[in-house]
Amino acid sequence: MATLPYLPFARPTLDEDTISGVVEVLRSGWITTGPQVRAFEAALSDYLGGRWVRVLNSATAALEVALQLCRIGPGDEVITSAQTFFAAPNMIAKIGATPVFVDVELISRNLDFDAVERAITPRTKAIMPTHFGGLPVDMDRLYEIAGKYGLRVIEDAALAIGSSWRGRRIGSFGDLTVFSFHPNKNITAIEGGALVLNNEAEALEVETLRFHGITRLADGTRDVVFPGGKFNLPDVNARIGLGQLAQLDEFNARRRALAADYFRLLHTDPPCLLPHPGYPGDEIGHSWNLFAPLLPLDQLRIDRQQFRAALESRGVGTGVSYEAAHLTALFRSYGHRKGELPNTERIAHETVTLPLFPAMTCVEVERVCAAVDEVLIEAKR
Ligand SMILES: *Cc1c(COP(=O)(O)O)cnc(C)c1O
Repeated sequence: MATLPYLPFARPTLDEDTISGVVEVLRSGWITTGPQVRAFEAALSDYLGGRWVRVLNSATAALEVALQLCRIGPGDEVITSAQTFFAAPNMIAKIGATPVFVDVELISRNLDFDAVERAITPRTKAIMPTHFGGLPVDMDRLYEIAGKYGLRVIEDAALAIGSSWRGRRIGSFGDLTVFSFHPNKNITAIEGGALVLNNEAEALEVETLRFHGITRLADGTRDVVFPGGKFNLPDVNARIGLGQLAQLDEFNARRRALAADYFRLLHTDPPCLLPHPGYPGDEIGHSWNLFAPLLPLDQLRIDRQQFRAALESRGVGTGVSYEAAHLTALFRSYGHRKGELPNTERIAHETVTLPLFPAMTCVEVERVCAAVDEVLIEAKR
């Protein structure tokens, strides 16, 4: 049997126009933040219904700057998920505030908003929800709670660019929204992030926060008003982002079609617990960054690591999204312990991310499903 090509769980698609555009930027004499960044910000703003957008060199930086913009710091609490990438809770801790972890729903993996409401205290300043894997959180409920308690919202939409809630794009409404352009996301700039804002004053403040806290004085010299980081995005990256944004809706349509193939084909023995298929009547709102079922580990003689090794040996790459953030060494040092967040911990234990990227074919989805089926039936108790 001929060896099939290795299938990674994520892979960016870069077209020739983008590649030659990058070469032009490299030859232009201006390679760091400049005209391409301004064009990328304008294109993102257009895509998001005219909202204010500033780009940074990662979503992690955008989360940190968003917290600073909201004047959140020591003594403040931010409600967040522990079934997300480490960046959100890390940045809350980094600016000196306390992440308050709330459990997620088992299937959507998004914050349980009843639990969010119970976790609100006089110290709560903001909610930082993740749109897990491209599935929006219940935006009506989120903003109803934020309005009722006067809280800021910083949406971690790293996995949800092009997702929508009842026909409105994530980032086109709400408070602050963060996107990521890491290569595993729905569009990439190699590295990069965006912060969607409410007004010009916030945009100007982000320009200061993302670049050393520098402001310009009337005499042509500079002043520093805040010990800011250095989070500016280079023009080379912005040019890639521009080329990618033009293809985003096409990429996401492809992702939805491949997810539908997985739902049709992934029927194993014993069965996996399949991800949330998108809201009934609003399936188009899911941008499918991740297809991550839960493994039936209690019916298997192997653990997840062995399952992943068996797929790897069949040329199929997998990922883990995500470990439980409250059980990292960092947040154990805050006193968090196993058993606090049952759904988060179960997902962390059983989840596996299967290959899904726009250049993948239906035949490749079939290949992944056949490999999963073969490994599971062999390992069945
Ligand atoms: C990737 C990711 C981030 C971090 O994005 P970077 O651009 O790599 O900083 C944050 N949150 C979530 C949910 C992510 O998936």
